[in-house]
Amino acid sequence: MFEKILIANRGEIALRVIRACREMGIRSVAVHSTADADAMHVRMADESVCIGPNSSAQSYLSIPAIISACEITGAQAIHPGYGFLSENATFVQALEDHGIAFIGPTAEHIRIMGDKITAKETAKALGIPVVPGSDGGVPDLDAARGVASDIGYPVIIKATAGGGGRGMKVAKSADELEIAFRTARSEAKAAFGNDEVYIEKYLQKPRHIEIQVFGDGKGNAVHLGERDCSLQRRHQKVLEEAPGPVITPAQRAEIGGVCARAVAEISYIGAGTIEFLFEDGKFYFIEMNTRLQVEHPVTEAIFGVDLVREQIRVADGYPMSFGQDDLVINGHAIEVRINAEKLPGFAPSPGKITQYHAPGGLGVRMDSALYDGYSIPPYYDSLIGKLIVHGRDRPEALARLDRALGELIVDGIHTTIPLFHALLDAPDIQTGDYSIHWLEKWLAEQFG
Ligand code: ADP
Repeated sequence: MFEKILIANRGEIALRVIRACREMGIRSVAVHSTADADAMHVRMADESVCIGPNSSAQSYLSIPAIISACEITGAQAIHPGYGFLSENATFVQALEDHGIAFIGPTAEHIRIMGDKITAKETAKALGIPVVPGSDGGVPDLDAARGVASDIGYPVIIKATAGGGGRGMKVAKSADELEIAFRTARSEAKAAFGNDEVYIEKYLQKPRHIEIQVFGDGKGNAVHLGERDCSLQRRHQKVLEEAPGPVITPAQRAEIGGVCARAVAEISYIGAGTIEFLFEDGKFYFIEMNTRLQVEHPVTEAIFGVDLVREQIRVADGYPMSFGQDDLVINGHAIEVRINAEKLPGFAPSPGKITQYHAPGGLGVRMDSALYDGYSIPPYYDSLIGKLIVHGRDRPEALARLDRALGELIVDGIHTTIPLFHALLDAPDIQTGDYSIHWLEKWLAEQFG
């Protein structure tokens, strides 16, 4: 087994990986920007290396700096966490060239799933159902008009290079198409440096359901059911749960089987997530994330597995420690994302934490890099913690979430904790009756 792993990330996910390493007897190396010299991941790792200044571009995204840190410390493998370089095929290729193992899929797997059009084509070829839409990129407005009238309005125009919910525009009718098309293109150009867009049927009331898959790189793969991540603001997930409140065991077995067979066919290695929109009992592929997701703990909770441990094992050539038949769902889990943001506008709220108290007790997991006196730097993502609860069923998990939120204290900055207190009072949340549009509508009603 690897003796030393470098974690090319920060915050809660860096801690998450360090914890798995420690349980496996593997030494961990943290990397950090100058702004993060006092960060928890630096304190918790066995060793640490400063890889550059505050800006992510010059630190957490700097391939040469990270490879040098590996060479200096003798780390044999890199875990990328999520975000930053986790889905960067050039990075993975550079590691292969330097003889450093990447804890994740191959550069080729990242490439075929990285660009959304290629991903959709690959998915289709592997028998995964996709959203009706254009065959590949749409070059100009005339072509866009043609596709939209073929599939019928409303349509959504999406950036081929998109991610993080950016570069997407909806056109409800032909009148709105021109503006939506032009804005999507210019946003895509600005955000991703690539203005190619494609068109899909815009589903009206879908849920976001994603399937966790895992492969050993040798043609064996399993699925670990679904997560429902329909509660979103600006296409970004806010609360996730597993299993999905409306997915039946038969639906799970069917779509899970399709996904597991698809990743087995390409000898996929490690953790991956196949994302779908789910409407009227049908699944429509939207994208695949070739990495660990922020919301992976809800899956870990209901299956009782450690996905990071499995990632490390298969990256070093060991078999997965479970097969499909070993994966039996136990209870229900919910995760809420605690962001350093001020309601109701969700403006970033970095600053010094004057008091931090994490909740505890049965079925409560708090993944966070906060500590008393820590100053949250303004340069990075606003996610500062994830509260995950696990209960025997959904009502128990909801009651536990309420209880745990009551114990959680993060003082000194504004956070999204009050949002979750308010959400738990909403009848639709208690019954699980929500689509991907529910949260924005509810927020508008609450805050105007
Ligand atoms: P990103 O990679 O930017 O997160 P996705 O393709 O995963 O983009 O889509 C993110 C979210 O956008 C989805 O969860 C859903 O809320 C919305 N969305 C994407 N495609 C469609 C569609 N065809 N119809 C309705 N909503 C969509």
